Amino acid sequence: MKITITGTGYVGIVTGVCLAEIGHTVTCYDIDKTRIKKLQDRIMPIFEPGLEEMVINNSERLSFISDYKEAYRDSEVVFICVGTPEKKDGSANLKYVYDAVQQVVECVKSDCTIVIKSTVPVGTGDNLDRVINQKNDTKRFEIVNNPEFLSQGTAINDTMNASRIVLGVNSAKAERILRNVYDGFRQKYVVTDRRSAEMIKYASNDFLALKISYINEIANLCDFIGANVEDVALGMGYDPRIGNRFLKAGIGYGGSCFPKDTKALHWLANFNDCELKTIKAAIDVNENQKIKLIKKARKYYDSFRGLTVAILGLTFKPGTDDLREAPSLQNIPILLEDGARVKVFDPIGMDNFKKIYPSEIEYCNCIEETLEDADICFILTEWPEIVTMDVSKFPFYMRNPIVLDGRNCFSLEAVEGKNFIYESIGRRVVG
Ligand code: NAD
Repeated sequence: MKITITGTGYVGIVTGVCLAEIGHTVTCYDIDKTRIKKLQDRIMPIFEPGLEEMVINNSERLSFISDYKEAYRDSEVVFICVGTPEKKDGSANLKYVYDAVQQVVECVKSDCTIVIKSTVPVGTGDNLDRVINQKNDTKRFEIVNNPEFLSQGTAINDTMNASRIVLGVNSAKAERILRNVYDGFRQKYVVTDRRSAEMIKYASNDFLALKISYINEIANLCDFIGANVEDVALGMGYDPRIGNRFLKAGIGYGGSCFPKDTKALHWLANFNDCELKTIKAAIDVNENQKIKLIKKARKYYDSFRGLTVAILGLTFKPGTDDLREAPSLQNIPILLEDGARVKVFDPIGMDNFKKIYPSEIEYCNCIEETLEDADICFILTEWPEIVTMDVSKFPFYMRNPIVLDGRNCFSLEAVEGKNFIYESIGRRVVG
């Protein structure tokens, strides 16, 4: 089967390489020529553990091209993996999806199955089907919704061992084709209509966002009443009806999915005059949570003017170079505006951050250099380098050893009696 992947971002490149791994011949196309050139030279445009080795190992079956006519001409199945970013009003911007699908329809020689992997609002597949198949009587297009559930940082394992493959189809033929494509994975299928598949993606992501916001609110209350949110989460998580994942309190979720997918579903619900109040709450809680450390810092300093602030971690989570909606992007502008000197360290994310802040902040080579002379330290991402550091470095290097940990990286026992003030999320203050 001739498979083309459209878009070589986090979803496209991982989908492409995993399909090659199970034996398919895959062509990946991206509108961004620099990205394709890099991939042709085996330089990964994104950081994703294990990706480079897998691309190299599958070189024979995997090609990268920047000519869309060539990419689509003989395709039998095209996976659309382009971005669906948030518009100003919160709704999903479908421009990239429509543009890509239009090029497929124009260029492909004969019948083709177009698989929408991008997260798209309910009804998108039906609209595409109507518009495309009405206009074409020579070629027939099957439109499938096949949402993606991978997490950045564990994307390859998530794809090779997905918890389920959701197929939103409206013909037996489309289902058969997709089952053939995915045959090598041997995973559980959920086969449904396109609208339900589109809804499964939003409902899943928004549920996880809601779970995070819920535990964050519980953590905020724990701060006031003297309970420990980690023990609370442990006690809750043993209940199989609740489960222990996504119960880690912190300074909120970021990334390319949860923030935009909560807003997009909320927008769609309002558009249908059916507001989702729980999703609205998740969005609001998360906005406040992202600047929780700034609020905690105000206890120690009225203003940041003239202070040196050390920031450990910039990416929205460990294991990725992605900065989309990362709390660092909310916190650092506030600190700069207030006149702070900001020093940062992130093992992977600094190159991307430099594209946004080329000169306003100081980029450090290691944790120690970042902490030197700092008046306060914010921990924004739980990178292994940070979680495993020797905490006695805080009082050793900092001018005023006050550490605000937005990711609960250390146990309270580990920081007890170490001569610095340590505040985390939903746990008592130490020091
Ligand atoms: P991304 O921004 O990393 O990559 C999108 C790529 O598409 C870019 O390289 C861009 O140049 C390319 N592109 C745009 N228009 C194109 C066109 N007309 N033809 C060819 N290429 C084009 O996006 P992503 O993070 O991979 O996400 C893609 C979709 O998958 C989104 O809808 C997202 O919500 C969804 N999703 C993402 C994740 C994730 O963890 N990143 C997980 C599940 C689902």
